[in-house]
Parts: sequence; structure tokens; C-alpha cells
Amino acid sequence: MTNPDGKGIVVIGAGVGGLCAAVRLASEGRRVTVVETQAAPGGKMRTFDSAAGPVDAGPTVLTMRGVFDDLFARAGTRIEDHLTLIPQPLLARHWWTDGSRLDLFADPEASAAAIADFAGPRSADEFRRFHRLSSQLYTAFDRPMMQAARPRLASIALNALSNPRLWPALRPGMTLARQLAGQFSDPRLRQLFGRYATYVGGAPDLSPAVLSLIWAAEARGVWVVEGGMHRLAKALAGLAVQRGATLICGVSATRIDRQGGRVVAVELSDGRVLKCDRVVFNGDPAALLAGLLGNGPQFALKPHAAHPRSLSAWVWAFAAKPRGVDLAYHNVFFCDDPAQEFGPVAAGRMPEQATLYICAQDRAAGPQPHAPLERFEIIMNAPPKTTQTAGEISQCRQRTFPQLARFGLTFDQDPQDHSLTTPQGFAHLFPGSQGSIYGRSPVGMLAPFQRPGARTSLPGLYLAGGGAHPGAGVPMAAISGRHAAEAILTDLALASK
Ligand SMILES: Cc1cc2nc3c(=O)[nH]c(=O)nc-3n(C[C@H](O)[C@H](O)[C@H](O)COP(=O)(O)OP(=O)(O)OC[C@H]3O[C@@H](n4cnc5c(N)ncnc54)[C@H](O)[C@@H]3O)c2cc1C
Repeated sequence: MTNPDGKGIVVIGAGVGGLCAAVRLASEGRRVTVVETQAAPGGKMRTFDSAAGPVDAGPTVLTMRGVFDDLFARAGTRIEDHLTLIPQPLLARHWWTDGSRLDLFADPEASAAAIADFAGPRSADEFRRFHRLSSQLYTAFDRPMMQAARPRLASIALNALSNPRLWPALRPGMTLARQLAGQFSDPRLRQLFGRYATYVGGAPDLSPAVLSLIWAAEARGVWVVEGGMHRLAKALAGLAVQRGATLICGVSATRIDRQGGRVVAVELSDGRVLKCDRVVFNGDPAALLAGLLGNGPQFALKPHAAHPRSLSAWVWAFAAKPRGVDLAYHNVFFCDDPAQEFGPVAAGRMPEQATLYICAQDRAAGPQPHAPLERFEIIMNAPPKTTQTAGEISQCRQRTFPQLARFGLTFDQDPQDHSLTTPQGFAHLFPGSQGSIYGRSPVGMLAPFQRPGARTSLPGLYLAGGGAHPGAGVPMAAISGRHAAEAILTDLALASK
């Protein structure tokens, strides 16, 4: 079905937000063209080639699976017909240099029992209280914040007011680190749960305490996509095409044209011009503000819609044979002093001490003792930046592999330099992003209200992706794609009347 004036919808970017918008719109019979700079869809869900096959170099933790079940169902199919999702009872294995180790589970009582063994019964009770708070925050914020097209302040306030247990976490200026300091007597547990702020690109000592709800999102279930997370992008792109969308990869949108005060076309790097009356922009909203898509959309957002920026990362993706420790699928190796990690990052530098996340991608069904090589992704938090200093790669190597060796983890061969994506690499891959990988920073109580929604002030221009409401992370970006599609369907229905 074409739009009332016979034109179609162009989705710029085949990240998860753009793909979800395309699936939804194409499923409703709309004429959709997706344009993607890279050779393959997925955006941050990207892979590196290795001797053991494609290694994920982006997201690895899939939560809130219901968001995707719903999208596939609305497209008249089931996610199981496109992908195998493996539930993970063990959420992550955590390691400290003092030799202690803690597994956390999807079952909160299993986590409490593990914490009791790790740090004693008092810590287990503190965890139970934290889990309750996190779950209640999740429930209070899910509908009026995450699922709503715009954060509904009145409903959020009502939910918060009706539950006094939430008040301390919602006090102005209450950071996640401060809240956890009051919640956990064991500093290792403060460090562990504080790390959840980094899932949306914030540091625990600066991010609001409400981000403790991310734990509840994870405790509701983590899935592994068989074959790697990039298969999700492939499945979404395949479904969009099955429902009639056209996918053009390897071509950039260079300009969004405006005429008579609204969007009329998208110009492509190969010289083509796609006439359209609706555009979903799935790139970083900061690219629009920087004028990278022309001056038509440059003023369609408020300047604070994309600034300040969230964190970046140094990401290794490679295949090797590991030695020394019993890795789970998701692993976190903590540094001794969080201040030595987040202090330098806040100052725009590499952490003096790094906490390292490792995904052992071939361990969804447990260790693979006979595999000749296994695939790994290692992530170290970084400040967003667009330049790379001389020696930065070898410095990153020094902060990564000797640190892992302190825990006893070594690889038969350390990865080559080209297996590393630096903040500058992210800045290059995602124009306008300044290397930041989670869009606008989550720091500050008002951050969720300043992030742009699906509609912009330029008629016909919509946003989807981690830089738009409700924010970063695979399921969140997917929800933003749904918001963009619904906004377009509503506007088209109004236009046809
Ligand atoms: C290393 C890493 C680890 C992560 N881990 C997790 C995790 O475990 N779990 C989780 O939920 N989230 C995680 N995230 C975050 C998650 O990956 C992102 O929030 C999400 O994938 C962003 O999707 P998006 O819709 O914003 O699109 P993006 O992935 O940002 O893709 C945007 C696409 O638009 C394209 N584009 C931009 N401009 C143009 C243009 N002018 N013309 C054509 N194409 C254009 C880009 O090439 C890109 O493909 C991680 C991110 C990274 C980088």
C-alpha cells in the first residue's frame, strides 16, 4: 500500500530500531525502503570474521524477549520460526582479583543463595531487598516510561508516590553508586550492581539510582541467540523483506530533502533520490544536529536531544583457545578500585584499571573442551572520543590481557590489532555519534525527558534507535522502532481522513 500521496517510507539505517520500524510498517502493507551504509544490516550488532566463524562485536545480552515476540507476532509469524533463542539460567559469572567468584542466576533465590556463600547471609538479605526494589522500579517505569511513546510524567509520579519504598531511589541527585552504598555492605556487590549503569552508557557514580531497574530487566531472563546476536539482525531484515520492504545496503543517505515545510525525498551516496513523504532516521540523532543530513532536518531537534554523550568502549572480537579459568557465557572481571576505572573515563582517558566483560560465545550450552578455537568478545568502558592517540591500541592491549592474566585467564594467541574497535572506530562507523555507543548520556534525573521521541518538529521525519526514547540497548531500540512505526501509522491514518 502506498501512502495517500503515492509515496513511500524511507528508513535510514538498518540497526535494530530501523529494522523493527521497517518490519512493523511493511507488515501493515506500507511501501518501505531501508537504506544502510554498511554492507550488512545490524548496525552495532556487527561481527568480525575469525577462524572460528563470525564473532559478535556488539551486543551479546538479549533481554526483554517479549518485545521481539510481540513484533514477530504482529508480523504474523513467530520468532522461533526464524531464530533459536536459548534461555540462560546463569546470568553471568563475576570474578575479583582476591580470588572470589560469584554466579548470578535468573532465579533470584538461586542468586541469594550464591551471595550467601560468597559474602554471608547479611549480603543475601541485602540482595533480596535490592531485587525487590529493582523489580518494583521496573514495574513502576515499564508502562509510563519504556513502553509509552513519550515518558508520562504524571503516571510515573503517581506510581512512585504510591510506593514509599521507591522514594529513596528517586530522590533528586541520588546516584546509583550512592544508593548501592546504602544498600550493600560488601563493596564487591556495590561494584557489581553499579556496573549496570554502563549498560546504557553511564558511570555508576553519576547515573541516577533508578537505573537499578536494569537488574530486574536482566533477572526477568537473558537469552542467547544461537549462532550469535547478529542473527537477530539478519532475521529482522529477512522478515522486513518477506513483508515487502526493500533493503539497500552499502549506500548512505546523504541528505533529507524538505519542501513546503516537510520531508519530500532522501538523497543517496550513489546519486539516487528516493521520493518519500516519511523518513525514519535510525542513525544517531547527533548526526542530524550536526547537519550531516543537510540543513532540512538540522533544526528538527532541540540541541540537548543528543548531548551530553554516553560512554564508548574498546571492543576486542577474536577467536582463540582459552586457558586457566572456567568461563561461563557472560563473564565480568572486576578491577580492584572502581575509582581507577570511572575517574579516568570521566576525564576522557582510558581506565587506569579496567573492568573487563568477556562473552565466550561458544558456551551457551556450557564449556567446549574439544573445540579447537572459541569466539570471544572483550569490552572495556571508554569515554566517547573522535580521535585516537599514538600507542592507544598497545595501551589498551596492556590494560586488557595482563589484567586477565592476573585472574589466570590467558589465550593461546592474543588478538591482532585489527580485532579491536576503538572509540574512534565507533565514531567513524556511526556518524555524528562522537564514538558514543548508547546515544545521549543517561546521567541526570531529566535525561529520559530530554531524549527525543519518535516525532520530530519536521513533519515527515521520525526517529528510531538507541538515541531516541526510550534509549539504548537492543530491546529499547526495538521499542523505539515500534514507536516510530506507530507514529507514522497514526499520522497516515489522520492524513487519509
Ligand atoms: C560493544 C557493544 C556492546 C553492547 N552490548 C549490548 C548488550 O549486550 N545488550 C543490549 O541490549 N545492548 C547492547 N549494546 C547496545 C545496543 O547494541 C544498541 O543500543 C543497539 O543495537 C542500537 O541500535 P540502533 O537501532 O540505535 O541502531 P545502530 O546499531 O546504531 O545502527 C544504526 C545504523 O544506521 C546506519 N546509518 C547511520 N547513518 C546512516 C546514513 N546516513 N545512511 C545509511 N545508513 C546510516 C548505520 O550504519 C547503522 O547500521 C551494545 C553496544 C555495543 C557497541
